[in-house]
Amino acid sequence: MTTTGIDARKMLIGSEWCEAEGGKTLDVVNPATEEIIATVPAAGPTDVDAAVRAARAALDGPWAAMPARDRGRLLWKLGERLMERADEVARLETLHNGKPITESRHIEIPMAAECFQYYAGWADKIQGATIPVKGNALAYTLREPVGVVAAIVPWNFPLLLTSWKVAPALACGNTVVIKPASQTPLTAIALGEIALEVGFPPGVLNVVTGPGASVGQAIVEHPGIDKIAFTGDTSTGKGIMRGSADTLKHITLELGGKSPNVVLADADLEAAVRGATTGIFYGKGEVCAAGSRLLVDRAIKDEFMTKLVARTKKMVAGDPMDPRTRFGAQSSKSQLERVLRYVEIGKTEGAVLVAGGSRADIGTGRGYFMQPTVFDGVTPDMTIAREEIFGPVLATIEFGDLDEAIARANDSMYGLAAGVWTRDIKKAHYVARKLKAGTVWVNTYNVYDTALPFGGYKQSGFGREMSAYALEHYTQVKSVWVDLNM
Ligand code: NAD
Repeated sequence: MTTTGIDARKMLIGSEWCEAEGGKTLDVVNPATEEIIATVPAAGPTDVDAAVRAARAALDGPWAAMPARDRGRLLWKLGERLMERADEVARLETLHNGKPITESRHIEIPMAAECFQYYAGWADKIQGATIPVKGNALAYTLREPVGVVAAIVPWNFPLLLTSWKVAPALACGNTVVIKPASQTPLTAIALGEIALEVGFPPGVLNVVTGPGASVGQAIVEHPGIDKIAFTGDTSTGKGIMRGSADTLKHITLELGGKSPNVVLADADLEAAVRGATTGIFYGKGEVCAAGSRLLVDRAIKDEFMTKLVARTKKMVAGDPMDPRTRFGAQSSKSQLERVLRYVEIGKTEGAVLVAGGSRADIGTGRGYFMQPTVFDGVTPDMTIAREEIFGPVLATIEFGDLDEAIARANDSMYGLAAGVWTRDIKKAHYVARKLKAGTVWVNTYNVYDTALPFGGYKQSGFGREMSAYALEHYTQVKSVWVDLNM
């Protein structure tokens, strides 16, 4: 098995590279060329069961016996090896997702590696407390792993979102079953290969590929899985929550968003224009935290929109494998069609299309490319202001004063992220406190650090990924009471 060529890949259960039981496969398509680039197993419940058994055996065996510091060393090595193989892994990420190679190679693979190395440092610092209690007793707490963790991952940041789940899970002593999205399984498979290469005991990290409807559902129902860490669509998250009730799994959900990016009249307009475009167009808009609702003060809106439209028109889709490309292909045909449907809805409901709006052609006549798209004149009740498009479509809404800006920003069922642009430090903090979102960026957008928690308010989910906060979700607390009466 090699990840350097494009071929049939297998999934990892224990130390075995396996086909799905029954031999079914799934095609993986390059969205920039529409070509099939690999086939992977289309697993079913039997395969999930095998992976859970392998994960349980490792959990009760070599992984539990390994000193925490050694677990940390392995995590560090995993990050190190990932960077040594970054060219190859980034290439896979771009081939199955369509994102520019620059984003894969210089941003996302390094961030994934950093995540493993950040949590490497936590492995031997997960500790309980000694707690004074009544009577003559010694009482203390232990922080223990939750058990077998399933990581269910979407297709937009395949490896990075996997690392946000797997790294803290392993640091805390859990074992994992990774279920990548069916469109983008290649880098999860590469991660499995690297984990074995650096010496993780078999079964600590398993990768089961296949559709959400079969593999995902089997994970939800499996009694041997103790926790699900999920990122994906809000409706899928609700189904996972309902389905997990019977076995009372721990769950964390990172779901959709319709994040507001608020530009006040005193903002540095050049910086805000840059922030508004990267806020929506990074990752072709297939970013859960994308700043897809642009709220602009009426007093500066004309000037702002002129600059924004000029900048947007300079952004053109290109071959994702070309290092100069900054805007790649939408991840799949269905995703491109979904974006185009929303563009039509926007026009029908009376929004004003000021940039893009159509499928793009990079000169090959193939690939799921879209033009970066901006709508002006959007009102808060329009579909494109309310629903997550998950593509490069910006909906611009104007406001008259600060209170109106805050009310409009919060007028969403989602609450994943938000941005505010202002030179007034008091207004910046005021707005940051008023916005109902898990992350608020001030005078910047779409920046992340492994040390800072990320997660949603409202229907954007619950639980936090990255940072020390994530450790809470991958450990459970045991109280030990020792009677000291002589
Ligand atoms: P999706 O919910 O369709 O799929 C996500 C994962 O869940 C995939 O691995 C899929 O195979 C699996 N899945 C599908 N049906 C399942 C089921 N019934 N049971 C268990 N698993 C199932 O979402 P998607 O289309 O892959 O991703 C796009 C969505 O993800 C967007 O809504 C986006 O906002 C959200 N997202 C959120 C974050 C965040 O951090 N909050 C990050 C990235 C993406």
